[in-house]
Amino acid sequence: MESVRVRFAPSPTGMFHIGSARTALFNWLYARHTGGTFILRIEDTDAARNKPEYVGVIFESLRWLGLDWDEGPQPDGSVKGEKGPYSQSQRGEIYRRYVDKLLSEGKAYESDGAIKFKTPKTPITVPDLICGDIQFDRTNEPDLVIQRKDGSPVFHLVNVVDDLEMDVTHVIRGEDHLSNTHKHLALIEAFGAKPPRYAHIPLILNPNGSKMSKRDEGSSIQGYLEQGYLPEAVRNYLCLLGWSPKDNREVLPIEEVVAKFDLPQVNRANARFDIDKLFWINGEYFRAATIESIEPLALSILRRHGVIGDDVDPVYFRAALSIVKEKIKLGRELPDWMRCFFHDDFEFDPEAAKKVFTPEGLANIGKLRERLAGLDDKNFTAAELEKEFKALAAVSGQKVGALVHPARLAVSGRPVGPSLYHLLEVLGRTRVLSRLERAEKKFSP
Ligand code: GLU
Repeated sequence: MESVRVRFAPSPTGMFHIGSARTALFNWLYARHTGGTFILRIEDTDAARNKPEYVGVIFESLRWLGLDWDEGPQPDGSVKGEKGPYSQSQRGEIYRRYVDKLLSEGKAYESDGAIKFKTPKTPITVPDLICGDIQFDRTNEPDLVIQRKDGSPVFHLVNVVDDLEMDVTHVIRGEDHLSNTHKHLALIEAFGAKPPRYAHIPLILNPNGSKMSKRDEGSSIQGYLEQGYLPEAVRNYLCLLGWSPKDNREVLPIEEVVAKFDLPQVNRANARFDIDKLFWINGEYFRAATIESIEPLALSILRRHGVIGDDVDPVYFRAALSIVKEKIKLGRELPDWMRCFFHDDFEFDPEAAKKVFTPEGLANIGKLRERLAGLDDKNFTAAELEKEFKALAAVSGQKVGALVHPARLAVSGRPVGPSLYHLLEVLGRTRVLSRLERAEKKFSP
């Protein structure tokens, strides 16, 4: 059997859109599922619309999503083979050859300095692995410009030529290109070549059914990176935009998707973007992630928000992260939750302060401080602290909550947070005692 060769062929005209990411992913999945080859090709022949900096955005986004391509240098510095990734702007010679061939065979002609391809006017059927057979009536189809006046080749030509030159077996791309495909088939026929198979994947729609555009929330992959989503979670969610394992599961290891993914099962219907589901999936991945795996993300977000500097005690940092991790679903939440581990000058939630720092609450802070001062560093553990809180509650005839709430607010400024005993253990004896004292003084009338 022929070996599968697929390509992802983005044009660097803007930020990396979620639809592009999904197209890249489906190509990658199909290549990995079949043991084939996944080619990356930058379609940058339209000088008016392309910007070189967006090429970097494409590489960075693919790297972030873990979608490695098979030909050329990789984001990690390693190299697979001598060729690729390809840039069409470097391949002008090849396109000229193909244009000359059409000209010399009378299949194209010059018109006002541009070159036009004589489009066939007979009906054509485009066979598509996802959409089925689609008929196009070409009676009124105008001839197709394949080379502009300035000599630059047009998208339809370069797209087709490279699919032939690169021995692409399956063209997997967004449904917005379905209507171009009959033009591509006409060119391929004129070149006397065998067409690849086509698989057009459904559009991604907003929850309200409109087509998702660049300006819509959640449309940029860079946005996910900045908000601290986990790339595995975003990738998992993208798998579900047009494909499913058919058993209602939504959190799936990528290896399983690779094993099951196939083109005929891709949904014909448009996919609905659902940020809440993505958020939920991200939370699932966050909960399951090891500290080591989320540490780089946490460090970078916290540095970006000025919560920590370059030198942070790694043991303390991991201890703090591991108790906060249980409470959050998204990296973006980390700065608020973690500031109190690294700064003494946090604000106190004003509502909570009014409710909790009552004369009774402040008296309890005083009692706690005396009692906890009796524990040495070695015994300042969640288990010991819990015993002390319970013992103090018992002797003073109160519920433990009467001690827990003021203590939490005093040491973190927030009314909610990770398990208080673990929080105190991680903060450590010195910080806890001084913060209790500070709150007591600050809020006593
Ligand atoms: N450069 C085209 C795009 O970004 C690629 C079309 C294709 O995959 O054939 O939409």
